Amino acid sequence: MAAVRGKTRRVRTARRRTGTGTGRHRLVAGVVLLLVIAGLAFWLRPRHLPPASLAPPRMVEPVHRVAPVEGKARATAGPVKAAPAAASRQGGPPLPERHAAPRVAIVIDDLGDSLDIARGILALEPAVTIAVIPFRSASAAVAAAAVLAGREVILHLPLEPEYGAAMAGGGGFLRAAMAASHLEDQLERDLHAVPYIIGVNGHMGSRFTSDPKAMRALLAALRARGLFFLDSKTSPESVAAEVATDLQVPFAERDIFLDHDPEPAAVARALAQTASVAREVGQAIAIGHPHASTLAALAAWLPEATRQGIEVVPLSTLVR
Ligand SMILES: [Zn+2]
Repeated sequence: MAAVRGKTRRVRTARRRTGTGTGRHRLVAGVVLLLVIAGLAFWLRPRHLPPASLAPPRMVEPVHRVAPVEGKARATAGPVKAAPAAASRQGGPPLPERHAAPRVAIVIDDLGDSLDIARGILALEPAVTIAVIPFRSASAAVAAAAVLAGREVILHLPLEPEYGAAMAGGGGFLRAAMAASHLEDQLERDLHAVPYIIGVNGHMGSRFTSDPKAMRALLAALRARGLFFLDSKTSPESVAAEVATDLQVPFAERDIFLDHDPEPAAVARALAQTASVAREVGQAIAIGHPHASTLAALAAWLPEATRQGIEVVPLSTLVR
């Protein structure tokens, strides 16, 4: 008893010396006890589990397999019809899987000189995609307005035409004979001049797009930046499709020019032709310019085409 009392006194003395209270000691003891229990549980746990549970979780592969690229997800969403057009076309490569409704993408080129004109185009419904030339007075402002309006923007990249004199009116041109490093530098400046772009098409470009070496350099540079290329096909000699396939660059090509002849009747005929190509092969891409006649025709045609079962889509939807 005396020994126990003596011990108690020593403990009390120690408590006084360290200046701590009983509550704090109990807390420390509790935490230590919890740590010991947790450590014990951790140490014991693996022994009671079957060895298979120690293998790493196997979820990564299926997740990758079921996640399609966005374009394909849209293409296969909803009921999908068979592709009779693939059988009716002779000799050509098989067409992509048919979407239920014929789809049309409209691109308006040559923007960047006027924010007012761009606003008129951005107000069209359903939405059209705009292509902005670099180094014009309103290039960056037009691109920003498009993004605010929820529209797609692509860079309308100046590419060397067959007749060099046509390049006099603007900067930023890529020329077929440029050394690779010079071409890359110029492209970089062009890309930076138009923000928010998701792809590129050519302004002019009949010489550049028919030059395999130049097109390989351009498309490889676009692939490295995650940008697609829309071939405006200003030359029948364009090698863009072959090079894009070879380098596996996301790619699309123009089917119809809406306003080579900007007379209202001619633009209306071009829009009707766009609809008939879409009905025949499932999709069509039309390129127009900011002429008053083109915009007036589109303002009437876009809602009418929608009523007639044509789905007007952003350009990226039709990129393969
Ligand atoms: Zn152009």
